[in-house]
Amino acid sequence: MNESYFDEFEAPNRLLLGAGPCTVHPRVLRAMTQPVVGHLDPLFFQIMDDVCEMLRRVFHTENYVTMPISATGTGAMETACVNILERGDTAIVCRNGYFGVRLADIAERCGANTVMVDSPWGEPADLNALEDALKANPGTKMVGLVHAETSTGAITPLQHAIDMAHRYGALVVVDAVTSLGSHEVRVDDWDIDVCYSASQKCLGAPPGLAPISFGERAMDAINKRSTRVESFYFNLQGVAEYWNETQRVYHHTSPITMTYAMRESLRMMMEEGIDQRHARHAHVAAGLRAGLAAMGLELTTAEDYQLNPITVVKSPEGIDEAAVRGRLLNDYNIEVSGGLGEFRNRVWRIGMMGEGARESNVLSVLSALEMILADSGYEVAFGASVAAAQRSFANNGIAS
Ligand SMILES: *Cc1c(COP(=O)(O)O)cnc(C)c1O
Repeated sequence: MNESYFDEFEAPNRLLLGAGPCTVHPRVLRAMTQPVVGHLDPLFFQIMDDVCEMLRRVFHTENYVTMPISATGTGAMETACVNILERGDTAIVCRNGYFGVRLADIAERCGANTVMVDSPWGEPADLNALEDALKANPGTKMVGLVHAETSTGAITPLQHAIDMAHRYGALVVVDAVTSLGSHEVRVDDWDIDVCYSASQKCLGAPPGLAPISFGERAMDAINKRSTRVESFYFNLQGVAEYWNETQRVYHHTSPITMTYAMRESLRMMMEEGIDQRHARHAHVAAGLRAGLAAMGLELTTAEDYQLNPITVVKSPEGIDEAAVRGRLLNDYNIEVSGGLGEFRNRVWRIGMMGEGARESNVLSVLSALEMILADSGYEVAFGASVAAAQRSFANNGIAS
């Protein structure tokens, strides 16, 4: 009989270089060991206000309705869709990877007539096809776009798509789960109507909170709904009444400890500087890509659209991709992610997110990969990938 629940559990110190959660800085972990206060304690209200204010800076917005949802990123996806959409509305969702597929699924479950704009995985969203869909579906209420497709490693430049959707009178919902904290996301300048993220990707906290921001146009649409929101937990009005500093009406018990974590991880972002943080992610990703190329490995995404926080690598013919990940975890204590959906068993996803985006981590994962691939029969020149990354780092100046 297994009675392992009698034993204390001690988590290993993994190097988390997958698609999230990312490795969490000790400062954030320490913040989580503070005593729990009540969710209606005035001291906690100050913590909430701090978090909202810092989130506005990270999103580059003055939107009043900016706060973390008590959920992971998927909860923010549900919050966006369930509040914006009413049964019978039309939503257009661009699907160029697993999370676009999920966003469309959620829009459909909200009862929206959901039009899919598909493009091949590894490419950005197809904006010509988006325009065709907008033309063919007058009165579209919402356009959904994934800024950084974590499943494929591709970024979709947003400005043109947002302007286009607005010309056709649609609201724009942007999934910035993986881009916030590692790429520029400018909610006000780009005129995004609803933008959301998640604590465990490039914001550097554990999973459990999902920041979201609603602009005026989106709030107008929500206020003009003719039917009530079909979710209690994600009903924006209820959530916002708790986060609003003049109301503070109980909606659900706030995850106190996670809010401490979010505040500390945001404080660390403010100390580093948002632009500097993006530059660090870009610098680290460039080194990783140089190393992978030197190993003869190919990426799923063309150079112009590659993400900073996650690099998606094709596992070479004849190599058991899951076995390689297993050895990285067991022999080197490094977690990288496998593929999702149509990329399942075909790729590795190496994340350099938040605290994980460090030169030293690139060197570690490259040298471990060299060892494992060589042992699996793949031809490897030892040190070549590490040297390529070192050259990239040396030429590119920004310390990390
Ligand atoms: C991780 C991720 C999500 C979902 O977030 P969860 O925290 O797993 O619920 C949504 N969109 C993108 C682009 C993601 O990378």
